[in-house]
Amino acid sequence: MDHFELRGGAMHAEDVALAEIADAVGTPVYVYSAATIRRHARVFARAVGRLGMGAPLVAFAVKANPNAAVLSVLAAEGCGADVVSGGEIARALAAGIPGERIIFSGVGKTAEEMGYALDAGVGQFNLESEEEAEALSAVACARGAAAPVAFRVNPDVDAGTHAKISTGKSENKFGIPYDQALAAYARAAALPGLAVRGVAVHIGSQLVDLGPLAAAFARIGGLIADLRAAGHTIVTADLGGGLGVPYDPVLPPPPTPDAYAAMVDGATAGWNARLMFEPGRLIVGNAGVLLTRVVRVKPGVAAPFVIVDAGMNDLMRPALYDAWHDIRAVTPSGERFVANIVGPVCETGDTFATGRTMDAVTGGDLVAFMTAGAYAATMASTYNSRPLTPEVMVSGSQWAIVRRRLPIEALIAADDVPEWARTAA
Ligand code: PLP
Repeated sequence: MDHFELRGGAMHAEDVALAEIADAVGTPVYVYSAATIRRHARVFARAVGRLGMGAPLVAFAVKANPNAAVLSVLAAEGCGADVVSGGEIARALAAGIPGERIIFSGVGKTAEEMGYALDAGVGQFNLESEEEAEALSAVACARGAAAPVAFRVNPDVDAGTHAKISTGKSENKFGIPYDQALAAYARAAALPGLAVRGVAVHIGSQLVDLGPLAAAFARIGGLIADLRAAGHTIVTADLGGGLGVPYDPVLPPPPTPDAYAAMVDGATAGWNARLMFEPGRLIVGNAGVLLTRVVRVKPGVAAPFVIVDAGMNDLMRPALYDAWHDIRAVTPSGERFVANIVGPVCETGDTFATGRTMDAVTGGDLVAFMTAGAYAATMASTYNSRPLTPEVMVSGSQWAIVRRRLPIEALIAADDVPEWARTAA
């Protein structure tokens, strides 16, 4: 459920007309609904609230949407943060998320990032290899610290999602192989500066079937028993994120947080561990739209090209992994047509939809790419020297720019030109 709906024939975000934002800020612009973010955080927290030992940690996957205003809304909801870089740690701390509620994931943590994370007092490092355990041990020892660690275990389960967002198969780069987990824990337990405390798993994103998650958790349950039998103290189990959101209203909706929680309840029975969750897309996916204006409609052989002023640099998901976004006119006339929706970037991949039946639009009309709150603005770039996409947050009848549009002058000013580059060699 989200708070983007037609009122009086025009799409609103909560109580604000999208056209008002487009007129004031220009397009393209991301628009987030604070009420939707809060609602999703609460629905998820309520669903999993009584699972495991003690209060579970719901750590929002910052990579999904690291905007400071988004993180602040979630910090106020009591969320922790799942982070994958020093930059994400800094963002989480700046938003008021305490270090102990931060989980440091990520396959390539540098020694510098490890030191920063230790100084910030992050609650758990999810290690991805024995080599990483050794590196963290060295950094922790140099500081006289004990780093709380879990290993991210790769359960070799097919998540049944797009290959580029699938992370739990043995050929993926993530985690330690399941069969090597016992040896890895034995090695980590013997390293100074590490305090082994948990197990972590995350098999992929946009999962629309609970089966693969249940299969992965069953393997993790077996591993927890084996680890305890080997003498390890396992007090946390991090089940990752991955629950899908509805992108295409025609498809059956993904499992609800309640259905997910019921599955987790069964899968983790007897684990006697504090559970951790890392939802990203579920919290923010449907809480954002990308608002864009039609530049012009150009005739095409099979269907017209609707050229919008948002490009693949603003919303990379369709080009990156064939992602499908619902595309709606902000003020629909009621007429429909079949069109190709493309951006202005000089790449054929700058195509949002091909042969799509959608609201009929013409030059100057506003269009909304729905479900653009996750893995969207955060991946924006300045390719083709296009200014970085601004972001707006709405709450009730108020709205604010939460990321400014960086002008081209700022981009040019960031470049330095050495004197020798100005003269012919
Ligand atoms: N945790 C980890 C380790 C991830 O890599 C990801 C993203 O793939 C997430 C959590 C969040 O996943 P999602 O946004 O699908 O919930």
